[in-house]
Amino acid sequence: MNSIEGGLQPGGLPPGHGAWLSVEFAGRLVYALGMGITQEQAQEIEAQRSRSETTRRVVSPGLEALLYEPIEVLDHGFVRVIDYLGDDSAIVQAARVSYGTGTRSVRGDAALIAYLMRHRHTTPFEMCEIKYHVKLPVFVARQWIRHRTASINEVSARYSILDREFHIPAPDNLARQSTQNRQGRSDVLEGDEAVKVLEILKDDASRAYGHYEEMLDGEGPGLARELARINLPLGIYTQWYWKTNLHNLLHFLVLRADPHAQYEIRVYAEAMLETVKAWVPLAYEAFVECRLDGAELTAKQLAAVRRMVKGETVTQETSGLSRRMWEELQAVLESRP
Ligand SMILES: Cc1cc2nc3c(=O)[nH]c(=O)nc-3n(C[C@H](O)[C@H](O)[C@H](O)COP(=O)(O)OP(=O)(O)OC[C@H]3O[C@@H](n4cnc5c(N)ncnc54)[C@H](O)[C@@H]3O)c2cc1C
Repeated sequence: MNSIEGGLQPGGLPPGHGAWLSVEFAGRLVYALGMGITQEQAQEIEAQRSRSETTRRVVSPGLEALLYEPIEVLDHGFVRVIDYLGDDSAIVQAARVSYGTGTRSVRGDAALIAYLMRHRHTTPFEMCEIKYHVKLPVFVARQWIRHRTASINEVSARYSILDREFHIPAPDNLARQSTQNRQGRSDVLEGDEAVKVLEILKDDASRAYGHYEEMLDGEGPGLARELARINLPLGIYTQWYWKTNLHNLLHFLVLRADPHAQYEIRVYAEAMLETVKAWVPLAYEAFVECRLDGAELTAKQLAAVRRMVKGETVTQETSGLSRRMWEELQAVLESRP
């Protein structure tokens, strides 16, 4: 049987402490008070992490070390793994429809998982499940919710009062509208312009929240929570539990960890990539190789590459590709976004 130890390893909370607490995981700060985690919540997490169970199921030691711990994202957000089912061996076991673990050797498993990933034999990856608790600004949640293949429970702003927490971009993320890409940014704002924009964002958020409180006030209008919230800006934080299987998670990550995704959702995807790496290292490696760092070409793009490989000089004009498709091909060949 597998013994699952919680305890106070990386990021654990010594009794009676909290404010100083933070730990580096994969170059990232995890379990830090001040990221929207109160002392009470930190103690609840500590209690979960100090529990120990015995199980006959497979466990992923990498993910066990991370379980329940918030990974800090943006100014008040986080991602934390609440639960999971399966590991690399579960993918192999399903692919082989095996009575045992399905595992033959680590090399054999790695080769099989890489084969499944390359050939989009996707169902074995659906045998692994993961559940996250995510705290994120509403404008990020709006993009995230487009991924329909997950189960979600969001905090109810009809039932509870939202916290005074808004996403205010860090100065180096305050950038001008790109003139090349309608969905992108260009150079970073500086000096008075940056100061002015930050002031607007903070003042508007603060004023809107002040009015929210005023409308809710039982001594005053005592407006219903479901109505008082309608004035709040998109930068306010919400929270949800988000459960999906590994196949759908990887689909989410390939789209949202991509440089074309908005920075504010990309940082969540990057944090989740770390959890996937810890959970199913072989599947992660195959995913990076085949999807994240791999590329898809159209028939015409592939034809242009074939001509280049034969030594022919191919230009956009002679390739038969549109300017956009030519640029996309160049980006793949030169390894740039
Ligand atoms: C960089 C970027 C920019 C974007 N810009 C915009 C934008 O400007 N406007 C906008 O509206 N959206 C935009 N989107 C959202 C995008 O169009 C998708 O809705 C989102 O990425 C979810 O993708 P998905 O449908 O593949 O994922 P999921 O909903 O997770 O679905 C996974 C897969 O399940 C299948 N599936 C799920 N539901 C159905 C269904 N009803 N019918 C058929 N197949 C289904 C499909 O194969 C799908 O690929 C953008 C996304 C990205 C990454």
